[in-house]
Amino acid sequence: EVQLAKELAEKKDTAPETIFDKIVRKEIPSKVVFEDERVLAFRDVSPQAPVHVLVIPKARDGLTQLSNAREDQEALLGHLMYVASRVGKDECPEGFRIVINDGKHGAQSVPHLHLHVIGGRQMQWPPG
Ligand code: IMP
Repeated sequence: EVQLAKELAEKKDTAPETIFDKIVRKEIPSKVVFEDERVLAFRDVSPQAPVHVLVIPKARDGLTQLSNAREDQEALLGHLMYVASRVGKDECPEGFRIVINDGKHGAQSVPHLHLHVIGGRQMQWPPG
């Protein structure tokens, strides 16, 4: 287990950085809703509903997509979901949806894990 932890710690994120890194570094502007040491929540530039916020880890650390998560990132994943739930509760008192698109069939376009918090109108099911 110690060896596994060491290997995981040494794993490098070699994927090219995305626009979200520039947003985290405030090199390009965004409308920040919440931020702490680990996560940033900001408004989606192309909102699909009256409320559309993205919650991302500030350090991607290999989390290009949810399915690349490591076991040592479980706490971070929980924190992302908790922050998303707070944003949803604050901005969408009548309910909201949290979406994570993963990979090609998931229609993911930015390879930096992000939770969509979508609400402020009636959602439909099933999604497209
Ligand atoms: P995905 O399709 O799940 O990967 O979602 C990526 C989201 O990022 C889309 O909803 C985009 O509208 C959003 N997005 C892309 N670039 C920016 C930006 O510069 N600021 C805010 N949101 C962005």
